[in-house]
Amino acid sequence: MIDFEEALRIILNNTKTLDSERIFLDQALNRVLFKDIYAKENIPSFDNSAMDGFALLNEDLLPLKNALPVKLKIVGEVSAGAKPIPIKKGEAVKIYTGAPIPQGADTVIELELTKVNADEVEILAYKEKGSNIRRIGEDIKKGDLLLESGKVLRGYELGILASHNIVTLDVFRMPRVGIFVTGDEVLDIGEEKTSDAQIRSSNHISIMGLLESMGLKPTFLGIIKDDKESIKNALNRIEEFDILISTGGVSVSDKDFTKEAVKELGFDVKFHKVAIKPGKPMMFATKGDKLFFGLPGNPVSCVINFDIFVRPSIKKMMGYKDIIKPFMRAKLIAPIKRKSSDRLEFLRGILNLEQELLVEALPKQSSHMLTEFRNANCYILVPKGVNEIPAGEFVDVIMFSSYIR
Ligand code: AMP
Ligand code: MG
Repeated sequence: MIDFEEALRIILNNTKTLDSERIFLDQALNRVLFKDIYAKENIPSFDNSAMDGFALLNEDLLPLKNALPVKLKIVGEVSAGAKPIPIKKGEAVKIYTGAPIPQGADTVIELELTKVNADEVEILAYKEKGSNIRRIGEDIKKGDLLLESGKVLRGYELGILASHNIVTLDVFRMPRVGIFVTGDEVLDIGEEKTSDAQIRSSNHISIMGLLESMGLKPTFLGIIKDDKESIKNALNRIEEFDILISTGGVSVSDKDFTKEAVKELGFDVKFHKVAIKPGKPMMFATKGDKLFFGLPGNPVSCVINFDIFVRPSIKKMMGYKDIIKPFMRAKLIAPIKRKSSDRLEFLRGILNLEQELLVEALPKQSSHMLTEFRNANCYILVPKGVNEIPAGEFVDVIMFSSYIR
């Protein structure tokens, strides 16, 4: 059985970053930039006022340094979007935030430091030359690197691109993902129960939700009976996707057909079983460039395997540079104890982010107890070989992706 790090390495080594597609800016949220983008113009694109006030010549303000009054003639006004008016010594122009600086002016005095009397303005305080003027290109200069390839486009970056009039852009293509779940006992939501031994499938709903929150549009291929031929038919649909995910049927009982089916179809099984808890029975196989993840049926195992293995692989396909979610170090506030220490364990925990990072494992950690996720916002990693971690020790924590991107 291989370790977590080895399993992740195998998955990432077999994951190819996808090609690009051109999309409109308003469709680009959370997509990853394919090519570097350079500034199309200077931003700001012209000298403009940072305040509502009066534009004037700094030399006219010099008497204020000797406590002498300064009164200037108002020769006009310029609002945002309007044409600037040139001024001469002894003159001032009323100016609004974002309006172009009048020719000849080199300083803007904010309204609060002025007193207007008919067509004359008295300036009440001295300000340095250049005050309240936003200079052309001081944010970014035309031709400078604006956004690097591999950048994940958040609302912030979309705004930056909009300010350069980028209407369409090249981003990495999104992986096409298909998912099916297996199990004779498994029912979809809304289906009528015909026996008490049946259960609802939470797995496809969880995984579809997690995929959709990454911006993907996964395809659900249905609930498949524990029957090798049906599983093979579902597996054959891998041709339509970049990634195929199944849940259930990857353990070792004679009702677990996934591995046999995968082998008979000529998939290349890269590993089966990882020394982690929960989620040990997971299987990873490839068919050409296409990836198959056989996740266990237990709902907690299934979700954890998705987070620690499938998510990084999808991120690599999507062009993300930071694929592995950084671990954080948090201080444990209650001890962790366990009987066996033969596997790296992922405990659901609560991380308190208010001051220092404090973390606590939740009580219900069994792999069938999905409900505890309600209270959790992170995984706590308990390393192989460790049975006990006292309170006050620092542990590795991975925050759920809904908290950070
Ligand atoms: P398996 O991996 O098929 O042996 O299933 C392990 C456990 O997970 C069993 O208790 C199954 O009933 C349960 N299970 C299997 N598939 C699902 C599913 N889609 N949703 C929720 N639980 C499931
Ligand atoms: Mg099963």
